[in-house]
Parts: sequence; C-alpha cells; structure tokens
Amino acid sequence: MVSGKDGFLYPNINVETCIKCLACEKTCPVIIPIDLSGNKSNPEVFACWNKDSQIRSQSSSGGAFSALASAILEEDGIVVGASYNNQMQVAHKACFSFEDLDSLRGSKYVQSSMGEIYKSIRSYLNKGKRVLFVGTPCQNAGIKKFLKREYVNLYCCDFICHGTPSPLLFQKYLKWIEKSKGIKVTSFNFRSKKSGWYDALRVVNNHEIMKGKYDAYFFGFNRNFSLRESCYNCPEIGMPRRGDITIADFWGIGMTYRFDKIKEIKDGISLVMINNAKGELLFESAKPFLEYRKGYYDEALSHNIPMIEPSPRPIERETFYLDMESMDFEALRKKYLRVRGKAKIVAFAREYIPRFIITNLRDIVQFIKWKLNGSKTL
Ligand SMILES: Cc1cc2nc3c(=O)[nH]c(=O)nc-3n(C[C@H](O)[C@H](O)[C@H](O)COP(=O)(O)OP(=O)(O)OC[C@H]3O[C@@H](n4cnc5c(N)ncnc54)[C@H](O)[C@@H]3O)c2cc1C
Repeated sequence: MVSGKDGFLYPNINVETCIKCLACEKTCPVIIPIDLSGNKSNPEVFACWNKDSQIRSQSSSGGAFSALASAILEEDGIVVGASYNNQMQVAHKACFSFEDLDSLRGSKYVQSSMGEIYKSIRSYLNKGKRVLFVGTPCQNAGIKKFLKREYVNLYCCDFICHGTPSPLLFQKYLKWIEKSKGIKVTSFNFRSKKSGWYDALRVVNNHEIMKGKYDAYFFGFNRNFSLRESCYNCPEIGMPRRGDITIADFWGIGMTYRFDKIKEIKDGISLVMINNAKGELLFESAKPFLEYRKGYYDEALSHNIPMIEPSPRPIERETFYLDMESMDFEALRKKYLRVRGKAKIVAFAREYIPRFIITNLRDIVQFIKWKLNGSKTL
C-alpha cells in the first residue's frame, strides 16, 4: 500500500518487479467479489449492552465488540482490530490478552492501515488459533479474499460503516489540537461518554478538549466531505453483510418499538446482526458478557442508512482534498468545517434547552410511535 496525495492508503504494484501473475487481481474483492451465499439477507437483529458498565463506558456503542473479543480470548484466541500506534497513526494489530484489549476498544474515525496483518492472521490460523478479525466491510472482504479459503477458526466481524477519512487529514487535525491547546497528543478518544452516548466528548491525554457537536473533524466526517473516494460507491455495503457478525450503534432504539431499558442504559446500546451459523456460534459464546433483547430490522435501519447505502458525495468533496494538500487544518476548518445548518441547530438545542424538556418531548414522540406500532416490545 502507498499513501496518495490525499493521504489515503492505496494498493500499489511495483512495475519493476511485477511478473504479471495477476495474483493481485485475483485477490481484489472489487474485481471478483467474495462469495456471500452463506450469509443471510434478512439477519436476526439484537439490541445488546455489555454487562460491565466500565467496559461500556470505554466503548463507542454498547461494548458488543468487547463481549465478542472476551469470548475469543477466554479460549486462548487472538483478536485483531484497530489501535493507535506511538505516532498516533491508526493501524490494525493482534491482541492476545484482556489487558491489551483496551487499545482496540473505541472507534477511530480514520482509515486504518492493514500493514502485514493479513499475513500474520494466516499464520495464526494455520497454527490452529481462533482469530476474531474486526474491521470495515471492505477490510472484511479483503481478509477473506487474501486467505483464498474458508477457515473454521476465523470469525469475521464488520460494522456498519459510514466511510473513512484520510490518515493525513487526521494527522493535520491532531497537529491543530496540539497547536491550539499547547500539548503533545499521546492519546485520543473520539467518543468519551461522560455526558452520555449521544453527546460524546473528545478527550486528549485524558483531558476533555471539546464537545463532539462542535468538533470540525467530525462535522466533515458526518457531512461526508472527508471520506475516501471509493466510500461513495462502496461495493461492500448492503445485505448480505460481509462479516459473520455485524456490530453498530443501535441509533434510534426505542423510537419505533417499546424498549423499557431506554432510561437505564444511557451509555450506549449496540446493534448486533447475526449473518450466518458462525456468527451465531460466536454470539452464543459472547452471551455471558452481554445483556440482550431481540430487535427489529426496520428500527435498526431507520436510523442507520449506511447499513444499506453508501454515503452520498457532497459537492464540496470536489475540492476538499485538493485544498487539503496545501492547507492546514485551521484553513480547512474555516473554508469547509464550521459547524452549521442542522448540526448547529442540534448543537444549540442540546446546549441550551434543558435536558428534561428534550427528554419529555422524546418520550411523547416515542409514546405515539409505540401506540402506532401496536405496542410491539423489545
Ligand atoms: C470509520 C467508522 C465508521 C463507522 N460508521 C458507523 C455508522 O455509520 N453507523 C454505526 O452504527 N456505526 C458505525 N461505526 C461503528 C461504531 O462506531 C462502533 O465501532 C461499533 O458500534 C462498535 O462499538 P462497540 O461499543 O461494540 O465496540 P468498540 O469498543 O467501540 O469497538 C470498536 C471496534 O472497531 C474497530 N475499529 C475502530 N476503529 C476502526 C477503524 N478505523 N477501522 C477498522 N476498525 C476499527 C476496533 O478495533 C474495535 O474492534 C463506524 C466505525 C468506524 C471506525
């Protein structure tokens, strides 16, 4: 892989050493898609939350990932996911212990480098180790094509993916934070839940630096300015899913069907989709770590369109990355990333309208929807 001018990682062929065996084309999931005949188009859906509230608070959603990972580690398996390295770049790594799992926990909203991890996974699998791989749908398709054959000891977990921003953009963002706060960033959390699941805070070196709703980097991510070009036509989105099991935020839980835990579990609910028999097996072994309720596909989809459709490409995407080549993050922020429009109204409402008014309004809307849906319950 090489880094493009936009900072994204791209596959690269060294023409001087290439022997034209076409192995690269044969392992490319875009040219020859993976076989999805074993995965369900209409999978079972669950609302889940980790029984351990501390793990839940360190996770982006309800901590479903940690429950799946714990089931694998308990049986001496290996968990592969994304973590920050010591230069604050995001890369996939293998994790062998519960202590090490901390580094994989939490979403890093940037393209993760695969480095040599696919080769390491193959070697663990050939030694008979159980491996859980977690990544975007395209990274799941990538590992399956790379391995060329089915391994019974490999469990693949994808997540609903909105798209990924560029590693170079992320580095510029961190430099901007360092300059404006006068600190060296050594750890970063996109979704600290001190003020709840919906109102995430950005935390640098264990200090809160801003509310998520005012974060320019996240505004660009949410508005789709900063996604990789391929994300707008992602061939790996939709049903059936690419992983054996899929995790995500269960946004909108309780908005359509009655869910009595809505007030109790304030620090995140995961959506889990069981795509095939292997996913079912993994979910079974993760159940001791989880509370769960059977969910409804339509409710999951209603607040999470990236489940079936790639993010739309905004007009600003034409120039965003061209400008990034010469601009620092502050200049990009001024030109593109000032929080505005609906995001500003929502931020204003969350900041200034007392919490109990928002909660009561939501309760009324929920009550009406529950009645309209014949009081179906999770
Ligand atoms: C770029 C990106 C876009 C996403 N878009 C959506 C979305 O549109 N809707 C939605 O519901 N959820 C989305 N998610 C998933 C969501 O943020 C949570 O990661 C997911 O719900 C799991 O949460 P958890 O509490 O179970 O586990 P967590 O502890 O939060 O675990 C996160 C898992 O994701 C892996 N991971 C983190 N960052 C990356 C990365 N950059 N690349 C590959 N793997 C990574 C970690 O290794 C870990 O296994 C996205 C995540 C990412 C990284």
